[in-house]
Amino acid sequence: MNTDQSHTLFVKAQQLIPGGVNSPVRACKSVGCEPLFVKRAAGSKIHDVDGNEFLDFVCSWGPMILGHNHPSVVEAIEKTLRDGTSFGANSPLEIELAELVIKALPSVEKVRFVSSGTEATMSAIRLARGYTGRKLVVKFDGCYHGHADSFLVKAGSGVITLGIPGSPGVPEDIVRNTMSIPYNDPEILEKTLRDKKLDIACVIIEPVAGNMGVVAPQPGFLQKLRALTTELGIVLIFDEVITGLRLSLGGAQEYYGVLPDLTCLGKIIGGGLPVGAYGGKREIMDMISPVGPVYQAGTLSGNPLAMAAGAATMRQLAQPGFYAALEDKASRFAQGLNDLGGKYLPGQTTLNRVGSMMTVFFTAGPVVDYETAMQADTARYGQHFRQMLAQGIWLAPAQFEALFISAAQSEAELAMALEKTECSFKKLAG
Ligand SMILES: *Cc1c(COP(=O)(O)O)cnc(C)c1O
Repeated sequence: MNTDQSHTLFVKAQQLIPGGVNSPVRACKSVGCEPLFVKRAAGSKIHDVDGNEFLDFVCSWGPMILGHNHPSVVEAIEKTLRDGTSFGANSPLEIELAELVIKALPSVEKVRFVSSGTEATMSAIRLARGYTGRKLVVKFDGCYHGHADSFLVKAGSGVITLGIPGSPGVPEDIVRNTMSIPYNDPEILEKTLRDKKLDIACVIIEPVAGNMGVVAPQPGFLQKLRALTTELGIVLIFDEVITGLRLSLGGAQEYYGVLPDLTCLGKIIGGGLPVGAYGGKREIMDMISPVGPVYQAGTLSGNPLAMAAGAATMRQLAQPGFYAALEDKASRFAQGLNDLGGKYLPGQTTLNRVGSMMTVFFTAGPVVDYETAMQADTARYGQHFRQMLAQGIWLAPAQFEALFISAAQSEAELAMALEKTECSFKKLAG
């Protein structure tokens, strides 16, 4: 595979942008290669500047559930674009997307739009603290909630593979108010919440973890979390930046039938443009300014192009049978991966999947939390990644990320991806 032009661009980018990237995992350090530069994407495919074509399983880290450049999303953006790109004032498009979100997510009565997932989670904990008058935030090891100071404690995603324990620049005074406890451990959860109940403003969780690789909540865990937080007057926040509109139109809360007090959204909700949102009970949401005293604002919040892309995406997702078809495709693909793991690397891989998000961990497993995820052989994942890339398959450039199935990938393309996986696993088996 010729990657000369990507290499030249990467050399130049590194002189201008730290590490040559605007988000660290893109640098591909943990899989031992240089990043490729993308020229364009369409449907299930990504094309780099050297003319190589890849079947895309990253889907821009989740947002592109319809595939790239879906015609109805492009049309909505184009139509809106002609009327201007930002008003700094209300537009009817904000109401349109708000109605779609409130209708789709069972626990959301009011919603506020922001421009990224990080902004959504950061604002949601401020709101929870304002609402309860308490300080502590409880999160779970390996869950990632964006890069705000309060969350950079045992966080997932790039914070794992870069080996940053938290991050320099985050004051101890801030992190002191964040407690991080193991995912899927109901006893530690109960003990922590009961011990500190009067100080805890909120518990924030990825209802299906996607940033230590995919880790499902064990049966009863979310229900227990809901019961305890209700009993103790603690705000429960579901960070559905990945799972919202991914597991179902109503996200993980609909999928598992457990309703949080606040929900954070991002990724898919922008249809490929920068959007985040947080929403929930009317009583809590009305604490936000200008109704209430909790301040939160954004110059580009509710941006018309982004609202139009989000609404067009949600309308596609709302079509009957969308999620059933995605589940069907994803389950067959996962079965294929599982079979190949069993055949060529017996006892050396674990496949975790919920709906159209999955991870092949290079470890015997089971993978149920941060500690067990960390057993994975990242060097082996790196080798697998490089072998797949060389065969035209674009996987996440780190072990602790999700592989996403999109509506744009055809059965034939998924079958082809399984064949290439077979080649790669054979080589790994030596
Ligand atoms: C991606 C992600 C975020 C952060 O969203 P950004 O748009 O990257 O700021 C927050 N929470 C979860 C669960 C995510 O996966």
